[in-house]
Amino acid sequence: MTNKKISLKEIVSHAKQYGFVFPSSEIYDGINAIYDYGQYGIYLKNNIKEYWWKSMIQINENIIGLDTSILMHPNVWKASGHVTKFKEIFLYNEDTKYSYRLDLLIENYFQTNLNKEKQLKNNIIKYLEKKLKRNEKDKILKLINQMKIIDPNQKKKWTKIYEYNLMFKIPLKEHEPENQNCYLRPETAQGIFTNFLNVLNTSKMKIPFGIAQIGKVFRNEIIARQFLFRMREFEQMEMQFFIHPNQEDKWLEYWKKKRFKWHLSLGLGEKKYRFYEHEQLAHYAKKAYDIQFKFPFGFKELEGIHSRTNFDLKNHEKYSKKRFRVFDKEKKKVYIPYIIEASVGLDRIFLAVFSSSLKKETIKDTKKERILLKINPALSPIKAAIFPLIRDKRLISYAKDIYNHLKVDFLLIYEENDSIGKRYRRQDAIGTPICVTIDFNTLKDKCVTMRFRDKMLQKRVLIKDLKREIKKETSMNKLFQLLR
Ligand code: ATP
Repeated sequence: MTNKKISLKEIVSHAKQYGFVFPSSEIYDGINAIYDYGQYGIYLKNNIKEYWWKSMIQINENIIGLDTSILMHPNVWKASGHVTKFKEIFLYNEDTKYSYRLDLLIENYFQTNLNKEKQLKNNIIKYLEKKLKRNEKDKILKLINQMKIIDPNQKKKWTKIYEYNLMFKIPLKEHEPENQNCYLRPETAQGIFTNFLNVLNTSKMKIPFGIAQIGKVFRNEIIARQFLFRMREFEQMEMQFFIHPNQEDKWLEYWKKKRFKWHLSLGLGEKKYRFYEHEQLAHYAKKAYDIQFKFPFGFKELEGIHSRTNFDLKNHEKYSKKRFRVFDKEKKKVYIPYIIEASVGLDRIFLAVFSSSLKKETIKDTKKERILLKINPALSPIKAAIFPLIRDKRLISYAKDIYNHLKVDFLLIYEENDSIGKRYRRQDAIGTPICVTIDFNTLKDKCVTMRFRDKMLQKRVLIKDLKREIKKETSMNKLFQLLR
């Protein structure tokens, strides 16, 4: 068996052809950087969510979950700094009409050109920060062009530089004042911070403790062309951990290690991950690390692990006039808790899992090619497919009985059309780890054939043992054991 490399184009096309991801509003030619999940994509996405949620909430007794609203009071975004600071600088080429985010261009440039030249990198960052502070954007444009940092897709120089806020504005009712615009939330974290006092008052949580949530967020991103990596509407899985200010370094290290281990448990290979320490920090963050993943277009941010200090709670205290303080028993005084956040994009994990699991294999003997989604069985959309060997009444009835009996425990597929070989190929392509075939011997010996996707191995098992066998192969418990 030989493995061939798969391009991003093939990944996007497989995702569409097999019902994982569709471009949104495709009948109207789609809309940039917005996607819909198809019938198998949604199962994979839900499995990733379930694994994250349980490994945060169920396994850690000091973390609870929330589900807060997308629209929030306009003051939330003033207090959080997003109204004034959640801006990005873009470079633009008037001929090609393409824009690119300045920070991402520089990050790429550093990674490919100045990887080891720390001093030079620091000098460039200092220069850019100075020019940004003084709002001398033209000088930034000049530097970028002098350094020959061009548009990586169009291979053209930049002609313009501009800045805008990534939040989507939602006007409130007509008679509301102009400055009372709502926004679609650009992060789920603020719903956690604004409920901090509610959680303190209604639960038994004591510092240190965490609040987690999964939800949709919206950012008016410009560059697309990286599939699910950069979307305008996406889902975040965020956990905000509230701590004593003196313990910032300890908990940052703790969550870095813990989250890295979580990613490794997905089985995509340790070499695909690395840490990256932020040089340009978000407006709220003091120390910031990314867990980067080797996507088909290179190492890019998968998860952010940041120290947010007490920036958010302090500002909500100021704007809301509520006291966000807890009592320090040892020092006999109150303090505003610090926060360590672990924030990951669900769609980016989906892309990491999907793109790394898709394999093109040539079978040695037959020279035939097969594309299979060699996905971790705990995450695979469908756990097993049930087939009668041929369309015979007795086999069909037996196969349907087995399907109906097991479908309450697992997500299954029943199929009777096409040759058994074709049915296997279809299941390989959507990542089903087990196919179960009912043949004429089954009628006599009450055994079925289990075929395992990855091992190309088959074994006969008694029907009464089938549930145990499928569970053994596909249970999420296997992943949880790796977290210990
Ligand atoms: P980037 O630098 O790539 O824009 P970010 O540093 O702004 O990301 P955060 O604000 O830290 O991202 O958001 C936390 C996580 O949300 C990221 O690590 C990423 O997984 C995910 N994420 C951010 N922006 C997007 C997007 N446009 N599309 C999909 N996922 C995203």
